[in-house]
Amino acid sequence: MSVFIRTNGRGNAWPVPLGKEHPFYDKDNFEDLANASFSIIQSPDKTTIERELLIDAGHGAIHYLIKHGNRIPDAIFLTHPHIDHTLSIDWVVQSHWRQKGKKYSVYASPLCWEQTLKSFPQIEHMVEFKALLPAKTVQVAEFEGMQLRFYPVFHGESAAGAGMLLFEYRNKKILFTGDILLPLLRKADYSYLQNCDVVYTDANNRYPYPNSNHWSVLRPDLINEPPSKYLNDWLKSKGNKLNWLIRPNLPVKFNKTVHGYFNQFLSESYSGHELSLSVFDFVRKINAKKAFLVHYSGAEDYKYYEKNILNTQKLASFANEKALQIDLNTEFVVPKVGNLEHVY
Ligand SMILES: [Zn+2]
Ligand SMILES: [Zn+2]
Repeated sequence: MSVFIRTNGRGNAWPVPLGKEHPFYDKDNFEDLANASFSIIQSPDKTTIERELLIDAGHGAIHYLIKHGNRIPDAIFLTHPHIDHTLSIDWVVQSHWRQKGKKYSVYASPLCWEQTLKSFPQIEHMVEFKALLPAKTVQVAEFEGMQLRFYPVFHGESAAGAGMLLFEYRNKKILFTGDILLPLLRKADYSYLQNCDVVYTDANNRYPYPNSNHWSVLRPDLINEPPSKYLNDWLKSKGNKLNWLIRPNLPVKFNKTVHGYFNQFLSESYSGHELSLSVFDFVRKINAKKAFLVHYSGAEDYKYYEKNILNTQKLASFANEKALQIDLNTEFVVPKVGNLEHVY
């Protein structure tokens, strides 16, 4: 039995804005207009699905599932509560409830789930919520042998409880960063993430524009270009204290695990522990073997750096060429919808 990761959608929130074209997305292919969403699939032959875990479910995820196998996934995992990652959840949960008459498993951080329920209050009683806390391992009951760890990230003030999801199966590590501007990781977490096999990550822009609440593929100073004024100004405007970074992930009520995690994060950061400011910084730090770039827009590259918006092929070549230039060993892939990555 093999394990694959399927790309169900690869888009940002609005891949092709109405009234516009976008060279990266094929507007004649509805599947390419879907938001970023993935399935971890257990299958003997790539097509028969024995087990399926759905990671994020925005626009188009449900259409993909109906067209390809038409089977209810065994559980949903949310990185953060933005609608381009949650919209299809109602359809999945309602399908399950009406056919099986049982609660459906949804894994997320408590703050993410609270925020998601504001959009879908009708599904609360149909869901068995499984809370994810920072750096705590949970066994995924719906997929034998699968472990999951949640790590908080900063993705702006509106992304309550945002985080990355690390799945571990046998000796393989599969990481989904979700949308992200900064990972909120401690030294011990970087050690734990070492030698990640595959990382699916937010590649909203190639160059930094932190006001978008997304990180970038690289920082220009990494490739011997002048440092980004937008990144420097943003870091300066935030000052040295990093408390503001953890705010969207901090529950009002004291929680020993969550508050303990962030106390440590802050004390390490104050002592000069470096933040990962781009995809390149991050994959280098965790020594990732392969990184899949999704959620691409390029709008900020065009607007603030006068850089072209790329197509699939050009984005992949850009990342791999720049990586080679700085001796970064990670292989970069820009997946198409339906891409199957064999992980085990
Ligand atoms: Zn998004
Ligand atoms: Zn988002």
